[in-house]
Order: sequence, then C-alpha cells, then structure tokens
Amino acid sequence: MPVRRVLGGSEPNLCDVPGLPPEGAGSVKETEGGSLMELLPIITTCEADACAYNRDRTCHAGAITVGDTVRPHCDTFVEVEAKGGTTRPGRVGACKVAGCRHNHALECRAEGITVGYVKNEVDCLTYEPA
Ligand code: SF4
Ligand code: SF4
Repeated sequence: MPVRRVLGGSEPNLCDVPGLPPEGAGSVKETEGGSLMELLPIITTCEADACAYNRDRTCHAGAITVGDTVRPHCDTFVEVEAKGGTTRPGRVGACKVAGCRHNHALECRAEGITVGYVKNEVDCLTYEPA
C-alpha cells in the first residue's frame, strides 16, 4: 500500500487557506514576476489522481518536493477530501534524491518530469541513477 497522509474531512479547502492567492492569480512567486517559477521543471503528468493536487492527471501544486534522500517519492502527495493547488501545472521545487542524474545541488535540472505509481508508491518516473 502507498504511504499516504490521510487527513480528516474537517480540514479546510486548500484553496481557502489565508495567504494563498485567489483562484486564477497564480502562485505567490508567479505574482511577483514569474521568472523563478519558469526555471523550475514542469510536471507533465501525474497518475496519482487520489492526491489533492491532482486534477485530470495533472499536478496543480505550486512546487512539489521529491524524495526521501534514497527513493524519488513525491513528498507533496496528500489525500484529503478537497482539491487544492493553483490553476497552473505543478513544478518541481526541490528534490532530495542526490543520486539521480538530473539532480544538481538538490535541485532538479530535468526539462520536465512525470509522476506515477511504482510498487504502490507515488514516485518521480523521470528518475535515473547517476
Ligand atoms: S506530483 Fe505529487 S503533489 Fe502533484 S498531483 Fe502528483 S502526487 Fe500530488
Ligand atoms: S528527475 Fe531526478 S532530480 Fe528530477 S525530481 Fe525526479 S528524481 Fe529528482
């Protein structure tokens, strides 16, 4: 079974959390200029439709974190009743898998990544050993 953080149904809608930009405004970083966000690798598809950030097999998290230093798990995966995230496709904010050939100084330098299930875990499928 996948390692999942399942929160209760009384959690707030992630889109209603104070401090997040309104729907359609993009993320905070995007609102401040966009150049930093555009440097981050895009998540082209994600099979984990149970994740709160997934709509139509597309991630909508502002920036995910990948890895537990060994396995390339999506560390941002969360299963709650409400859907959340931004209106744009998600990007890779940081990656802790230093042993991947796309990893430089704990940042992902791939042009884009795909995410899906490997042995019931939600992993970065673009991972390649260095
Ligand atoms: S990439 Fe991670 S955070 Fe984004 S939808 Fe998939 S499992 Fe969720
Ligand atoms: S491709 Fe490699 S460096 Fe990029 S997110 Fe996946 S595991 Fe991390």
